[in-house]
Amino acid sequence: MYPASFEYHSPTTVKDALGLMGKLGDDAKLLAGGHSLIPMMKLRLAQPKHLIDLRNVPGLKGVKEDGGTIVIGAMTTWYELETNAIVKAKCPIVSETASIVGDPAVRNLGTIGGGLAHADPAADMPATAIACNFEMVCEGPKGRRTVKVDEWFQGLMSTALKEDEILVEVRVPALAKGTGAAYLKFPHPASRFAIVGVAAVISTDGKGTCSKASIGVTGAGTKAVRAKGVEAGLSGKNLAGAGAIEAAAQKGAEGVDVQADLQGSVEYKAHLCRVFAKRAVEAAAKRAG
Ligand SMILES: Cc1cc2nc3c(=O)[nH]c(=O)nc-3n(C[C@H](O)[C@H](O)[C@H](O)COP(=O)(O)OP(=O)(O)OC[C@H]3O[C@@H](n4cnc5c(N)ncnc54)[C@H](O)[C@@H]3O)c2cc1C
Repeated sequence: MYPASFEYHSPTTVKDALGLMGKLGDDAKLLAGGHSLIPMMKLRLAQPKHLIDLRNVPGLKGVKEDGGTIVIGAMTTWYELETNAIVKAKCPIVSETASIVGDPAVRNLGTIGGGLAHADPAADMPATAIACNFEMVCEGPKGRRTVKVDEWFQGLMSTALKEDEILVEVRVPALAKGTGAAYLKFPHPASRFAIVGVAAVISTDGKGTCSKASIGVTGAGTKAVRAKGVEAGLSGKNLAGAGAIEAAAQKGAEGVDVQADLQGSVEYKAHLCRVFAKRAVEAAAKRAG
């Protein structure tokens, strides 16, 4: 199906894009990689009268370092994250997550900013964003503000981004020494979206005891959430000890508002949360050493 007709705008600065948003209001939508918005327009689930394309705004794309933080432009594609040397060296779980989003066509056009702004409940990066404590930098008419990931995902496809703001960059703390991270998902066989996906970032004291655990879960409910039960269950535990990871992973669905859908029942998806929590924590702990 073709989308309803719309007017196309191609600003070349964030200021001009914000100006257009202010002028056009609710009738306009930002366009990034288009791999979520255009399918919705084709299905007439979205019918914006104006599209404001961010692809010709320089400065919104690319990766740089700022001390111990990786700064990722919102228009950076999944493929660029998968292959970027800084991301691979400093926070490889972000490359790992990007590398299993959809298929090559999706990864070549889809962007981290689009993915985090769209907040699809089955998207991959939200789990990793929670586990890695991303910060989202939003720019609006009154300037910039930073939102911590724990305040970002607010509900089904809803975030802390205000209607007059653009997500301009994502700040990712580099993984500290002695920290390992992994993202694993049970993918939908057609779209590759996560039926359930779990990201784990595990720090150890060098002798196998978990000093810090940060776990994000996607796919199971209406939004990605922090698995606080698993985090608490791992903290201070010797991860080589019999059943330590298994016991903590049993809390994989705690605090997750698990929803039944065409992919599975509440029980099945809660089971996947526990299974993938165990697998992701095991992989992250192994990488932590
Ligand atoms: C066949 C297929 C398979 C897919 N499989 C997966 C998968 O396995 N895992 C996964 O995570 N995703 C998957 N996706 C989604 C894909 O990753 C999208 O690219 C992504 O969700 C949205 O990014 P985008 O750049 O395409 O955004 P767009 O579609 O351009 O925009 C999405 C929404 O975000 C808004 N927006 C975009 N950029 C900004 C910004 N900088 N500031 C504020 N608002 C903004 C837009 O206005 C729009 O509302 C799949 C998509 C398709 C079509």
